[in-house]
Amino acid sequence: MSKQKISKAKSINRTKTFVELIISAVLIAAAVMITKGALDRSSNVGSTSNVQETIPEETVIIEEETDPNKIIFASAPVKTKDKFYGDLILVNNSHQYFSTGEEDLVSILEMNDQTGRDFFTAVDYDYTILRPVYEPMGQMLEDFYKLYNNDTIIIYGSFRSTDFQQKLYEADLAENGSEDSTLVAKPGFSEHETGYAFDLSETENYDYMGTGDFAWINENCYKYGFVVRYTKAKENITEIRDEPWHFRYVGIPHAFYMTKNDLCLEEYIDLLRTHPYDGEHLTFTDDQNKNYEVYFYASDDAAETTNVPVPTGRKYDISGNNVDGFIVTVYTDEIVEPGMEHTTEASTEASTETASEESSDAESDSEEVEVIPLT
Ligand SMILES: [Zn+2]
Repeated sequence: MSKQKISKAKSINRTKTFVELIISAVLIAAAVMITKGALDRSSNVGSTSNVQETIPEETVIIEEETDPNKIIFASAPVKTKDKFYGDLILVNNSHQYFSTGEEDLVSILEMNDQTGRDFFTAVDYDYTILRPVYEPMGQMLEDFYKLYNNDTIIIYGSFRSTDFQQKLYEADLAENGSEDSTLVAKPGFSEHETGYAFDLSETENYDYMGTGDFAWINENCYKYGFVVRYTKAKENITEIRDEPWHFRYVGIPHAFYMTKNDLCLEEYIDLLRTHPYDGEHLTFTDDQNKNYEVYFYASDDAAETTNVPVPTGRKYDISGNNVDGFIVTVYTDEIVEPGMEHTTEASTEASTETASEESSDAESDSEEVEVIPLT
């Protein structure tokens, strides 16, 4: 080989090496970008996903890395039948309540004795309500008493067993001689069977109209987690006449949102369905400056368990809607240790065993939360 040829060969070799280097660099850069993109997508969940897709990729990555408030979601296995329980269940003429017969009930008068609340009463000691509903109800009536010095309130309607509802229904039919009662809900279809509802009276004449001083209760009940369930304006939707005396527990965030946006429970449940987990979550701030994020997740009716996405590191609640799925309420401001996220407050049945420390064993134990973020 001549000198010139050797030199040319060397030159070609150098060029080849240089090209290889460039190709390698491009491949590495591409790999890095793909990995970053994948990481971004895997953590890009929840309400912000639609927004972020329109932002240049570089910006997204920076935001992802510097946003300590980003909520990571994990999967919590929930019994699919639990969609029939929880403080957001819709019970009306079309949606039956399936009593477990094991509702966690307390006697209102016994609780009054224990807490020293002697400024309201119930018909007798057999009047019961769900344990977590007693305290907000008692607190509301206590605040009312302190404001107006009025101790006449009687709880004349609270939890009713389906058997008792049956008796009420039959008695009403016998009295009115009609086939269907417009005054008493069919057995299985009364909110009173859930333990989340109660009726007030001013005297023994069932005469509470939420007027005068009592208007304060109807106007402020949302602050305690209650809604006036049946109003004149929503009669065509609820199919129940105006009942200013009937209060229903739904929890503070939801009572706030429903009241401020003038939605009855039927409308609210429909609205939440338009805020699914993989779409835009419903986010709002209440009048105590607390922030919430709420979304719907359809139940997997073909399976015993539905894997509901839940936040990690934030307090949350799950409730069934008694129709087609679950509603997750995230208490955005309440940062909690792993394993402490779920609160069962005022929720009877919809329960999840969440965030175990041994989450790596998630596959072998269906009761534990998988820690893999969901997309
Ligand atoms: Zn009632």
